[in-house]
Amino acid sequence: MNIMKPLKNLVSFVGLAIFSISITAHADEYPTKPVTLVVPFAAGGPTDAVARLLSIPMTKFLGQTVIVENTAGAGGTIAANRVAKSPKDGYLVLLHHIGISTAPALYSKLPYDTLNDFEYIGQVVNAPMTLIGRKNLPATNYKDLLAYIQKNRDKVTLANAGPGAVSQLCGMLFTSQLGIPLTQVPYKGTGPAITDILGGQVDLLCDQTTNTLSHIKADKVNLYGTTTLKRLSSLPNVPTLNEQGLKGFQVVAWHGMYTSKGTPTLVTDKLNAALKFALADSEVKARLAELNVEIAAPEDVTPAGLKRQVESEIKKWAPIIKASGSYID
Ligand code: ASP
Repeated sequence: MNIMKPLKNLVSFVGLAIFSISITAHADEYPTKPVTLVVPFAAGGPTDAVARLLSIPMTKFLGQTVIVENTAGAGGTIAANRVAKSPKDGYLVLLHHIGISTAPALYSKLPYDTLNDFEYIGQVVNAPMTLIGRKNLPATNYKDLLAYIQKNRDKVTLANAGPGAVSQLCGMLFTSQLGIPLTQVPYKGTGPAITDILGGQVDLLCDQTTNTLSHIKADKVNLYGTTTLKRLSSLPNVPTLNEQGLKGFQVVAWHGMYTSKGTPTLVTDKLNAALKFALADSEVKARLAELNVEIAAPEDVTPAGLKRQVESEIKKWAPIIKASGSYID
C-alpha cells in the first residue's frame, strides 16, 4: 500500500487549515494599519467631499486612519479596477456612485467584472443634481437657455467627469432629450469642472448639489433646473427639469462602498459597521442635510442593499445608454 498519498493529503489539509486560521486571525485584528478610501474622481468634487466627510468618523470607529486617495480618470473605471484587483484584505476601499452601474454599458471592454469582482459594503448617500451654467452666459433661466442653445448649438460646451461619471450621464440625457448634441469637455472630476464654470471657460455642467449648492446660493452660477421629479427642499423655488418640459428627467447620484472580492466577512462586516457609524454621526448628518444629500435607508446600507441597487441600475441604464449611442471602444 502506498502510504505517501494519504500522508500528502493530510499535509495539504493541515496546510490549508493553518492558512485559513491565519487569514481569520488577521481578519479578526483588522485594521492594523491605515485604510485607504479610494475616490474615483479628482479632489475638490462631490464624491471627494462625501469621502472626506465619512473618513473622520470611520477613523474613530476603526481606530486606524482612513486616508482619502483620488485615483481619477476614465470616468471612475481606473479606481474601480484598482480596488477590484487589490489584495483581499479590506485596506483598499472604493467609494463610487451610480457610475459603477453605467460603466458596463458605456465601455465595451471593462477590465473588471462589476458584479463579481467586489465585496459590497453598503449604499451610502443619494445626491440630487442641478444643471448650472457660467454666470456670464446670456441665459439666466431654462427657457432662455433653450433659445441660446438653439442659436449657438455649435459653440455651447458641456463639462463632465468622463464616460461613467454621473455628470456625463446627466449631460447625455439632457442633450439626447433635447435632440441637440453639444461639445463635451471631459475633466478628471467635477471639482476641476466647476472651477472652469466659475472662471467662464466652459458653459454648462450637470452636477450634484454637494458641489453646486454653495455656488448657487452665492449667485456665482446660473441655475436652470434640478434633476429630481420633486423640487428640492433647499431650492423650493427652483423648478425641476421635468417640470420645465424634459418629461421624466431624473438622475440621482446614489453612492456605494466596495472592497475586493474574497475579503473575509469579518473585515467587510467591520467596514459596514464603520460606514453605519459614520452615517449616524451628528456632524456628518448635519453637513449632508445642508447639502441636500440624503442618507441611504438603513436596509440599503447593507451588502445586499447595495448589490440589489447595482444590479437593478445596470439593467435600467443599459438600454438607455445603448439608445443614446454613447459607447467607448
Ligand atoms: N460626481 C462627479 C461626476 O460623476 C465626479 C466627481 O465626484 O468629481 O460627474
